[in-house]
Amino acid sequence: MGEIRTRFAPSPTGYMHIGNLRTALWAYLVAKKDPNGKFLLRIEDTDQGRLVEGATDIIYQTMEQCGLKHDEGPDVGGPVGPYVQSERVKSGLYMDYAKKLIHRHGAHYCFCDQEMIDTQREIQEARGESFKYDDPCKNISIEEAEERIKNGESFVVRQTIPTSGTTSFHDEVFGTITVENETLDESILIKSDGFPTYNFANVVDDHLMGITDVVRGMEYLSSAPKYNLIYEAFDWDIPRYIHCPPVMKDEHNKLSKRNGDASFQDLVAKGYLPEAILNYIAMLGWSPENNQEIFTLEELVKAFNVKHIGTSGAIFDPVKLKSINGLWLRGMDIDTYYELVKPYIDKAVKGDFDKKRIAEIIQPRVETLAEIEEMLDFFDTFPSYENELYINKKMKTDETIALESLKASYEVLEGINQWEEPILHDELMKLPEKLEKKNGQILFPLRLAISGKQFTPGGAIEIAGILGKEETLRRLKLSIEQLEK
Ligand code: GLU
Repeated sequence: MGEIRTRFAPSPTGYMHIGNLRTALWAYLVAKKDPNGKFLLRIEDTDQGRLVEGATDIIYQTMEQCGLKHDEGPDVGGPVGPYVQSERVKSGLYMDYAKKLIHRHGAHYCFCDQEMIDTQREIQEARGESFKYDDPCKNISIEEAEERIKNGESFVVRQTIPTSGTTSFHDEVFGTITVENETLDESILIKSDGFPTYNFANVVDDHLMGITDVVRGMEYLSSAPKYNLIYEAFDWDIPRYIHCPPVMKDEHNKLSKRNGDASFQDLVAKGYLPEAILNYIAMLGWSPENNQEIFTLEELVKAFNVKHIGTSGAIFDPVKLKSINGLWLRGMDIDTYYELVKPYIDKAVKGDFDKKRIAEIIQPRVETLAEIEEMLDFFDTFPSYENELYINKKMKTDETIALESLKASYEVLEGINQWEEPILHDELMKLPEKLEKKNGQILFPLRLAISGKQFTPGGAIEIAGILGKEETLRRLKLSIEQLEK
């Protein structure tokens, strides 16, 4: 058996859709499961009307950010190039194969007016009938057709489908599917401008590029029988098909940028790590054998198994993504993590505080990098807050208890000369016993009194440590005054 070869074949039409990225990832995993497997990138730009400038760069960039390194592709080359379809068109390759297919009775020249066909289609579909075009051009001999083309007549190449019988194909996810040939329409393979349609280019390219496993979206499942008829007409090996269930926004709608759903780029801009996004989307429609949740790309390669891809659409859950992102952040070693969060901390905190310590205290709490700014907004400026926040059932505090506790804390803190967290801790922890209070009755009011916030990353001692003695005492004094009023 030869090596496994898969490809990611995006059309450069803009942002990187989450569903597309998941397809790319799965195609990568299928290839890399084989130690000699190859993962190819092919740019499908034959639908010139849909091209968006810069979209190819987004594809390269995304693949790079995600570590989905392709072994062959437009930028890195390879033995079966060119890897951009518009360049392949220039070589006349698709037209050559179309002619071969015509001679093998798998296709025919068609001179019908496309507008007329479209009108017929509309009429029939409006009647609720499924459209089937009975093309009179099938009766024209190849010689006559070529003569008409020589004379400048405009034409397309259309697939010829047998009028009876059935076609079966096997999909690794959806099983074996059999369709009646009469339900398949004779799609255009080469357009009048000489460009191939996806229906033709995908078969020719996958064959010429030696693709063994075709991993792609489920929207192509219903056309797969037509592609098989083309493979059969050429007498080519049919690849293994792995059609991927869709990524859904909810039960009824697909996730799509058009509906305002986030693209990969949007998620990165919102503070998600590419590794975490990849980790999460790998599991959209695929489930590992154990209940492991955090996977690096290498671990995914080992764990991934096409057999465990489900057939129903997988709902993209932003809450789950967020929690996985949080787990990734918490799992990082402090130096790598600090490097990553430092720019966000620098943006949020201008004062001269120990940024590394800030990074440490937020590590157990931060879920996306974009949250950091808001989490840390109390360092530079002491926010105003209502005394009511001292009333807290769980902490067993109210304004009276808080005032008593804060005054005692002030006294203790004022006496500390070596402003270090362990010392702050030891001194403050003498208070509960002395005042016959619970720890929370000391620490909760203190944290609120120096941060102005009900929820903070880090506890009272950590925050006091970072703020420094002078700023801690200044804030504490203001808070005591506010409570005394
Ligand atoms: N260009 C097609 C798309 O972006 C590729 C489908 C395939 O992988 O065959 O949907």
